[in-house]
Amino acid sequence: MQIIDDLHQFKTSMIRPQLPYVMSYLFEDQKEGLTLFDTGFGTDQAYNELKISLQKLGYQISDLSRVIISHAHPDHIGMVGKIRQDNSDFKLIMSKDEYEWINSRKDRDWQKIGNNWMEQHGLSIEEINASKEDSIWKNIEWPDLSPDLLVVDGDELLIGKWSFQFISTPGHTKGHICLYEKNYKLMLTGDHVLPHISPNVSVDFQGKHLNALVNYINSLKKMLSFDTDIVLPAHEYAFTDLQERVNELLLHHKNRLSEHLAIFNDGSLTAAEVAKKISWNTGSFDDFNLMMKRSAIGETVAHLEYLVTDNALVKINGGHKEVNWQLA
Ligand SMILES: [Zn+2]
Repeated sequence: MQIIDDLHQFKTSMIRPQLPYVMSYLFEDQKEGLTLFDTGFGTDQAYNELKISLQKLGYQISDLSRVIISHAHPDHIGMVGKIRQDNSDFKLIMSKDEYEWINSRKDRDWQKIGNNWMEQHGLSIEEINASKEDSIWKNIEWPDLSPDLLVVDGDELLIGKWSFQFISTPGHTKGHICLYEKNYKLMLTGDHVLPHISPNVSVDFQGKHLNALVNYINSLKKMLSFDTDIVLPAHEYAFTDLQERVNELLLHHKNRLSEHLAIFNDGSLTAAEVAKKISWNTGSFDDFNLMMKRSAIGETVAHLEYLVTDNALVKINGGHKEVNWQLA
């Protein structure tokens, strides 16, 4: 689908029913070549869909000059390895913070570390063992990124008619970036701002992004200072009113924080206990598979850590295993 002249939105299949596809964006420039923002999931099917989208415009994978990625989740970086097999010349551009963060958490046995972390947050080993692992995510291939250019907040890149500015928007991941195109007032939001779904904001289980929600809320507010006509997210659909959507998301988290706080009485609670008591629009915590439980606990911890920063809760590292929170 053409967004404006020389800018196209591609949809490729995703393997999650909640988010059926990933949207990447292709910028054309006669002299400077093609720039792709986000790739899509690394399945053969999705890769073929990307190739077909390019072919419809008269291009192939080897015509890509650069690929920019918003963040290092598999549905955004997934095709990098496949693209590289067919095109050894393109330049990969990503956030410096994101690259450092993913390199700091290259754990071999991440499932075991994830289980230990959930136990530390109050989920019993019996509950962990009884939960189904999400087979979709089990054998994900993580491509070797080897970026050619690492960018930081405020960096600019002029590519022919396009004037890009990188905006650091940590929260959904520690080094997430949005891309602002100032000549046409376009904001490419990756997973930072989606039109309908509230993006997942979780701490990671290596403890390297505990202030995820503090970061996310600051990154949302940052969006308000950009004069934007068209918002191009990586999922759902393009939309126009960035300010309105940002304000909705800010209100959502404000309400969500109140909901977390209201669960606390006199005693202390673990993140798993809180996660079981609060509402999830995807169902009840006990029915979640292991991947969803990890992500729900991660999201709960992000809210609890925020409330600690806000001096509403205190965190107690009790004993050798459990982390608890209680009213300040
Ligand atoms: Zn993501």
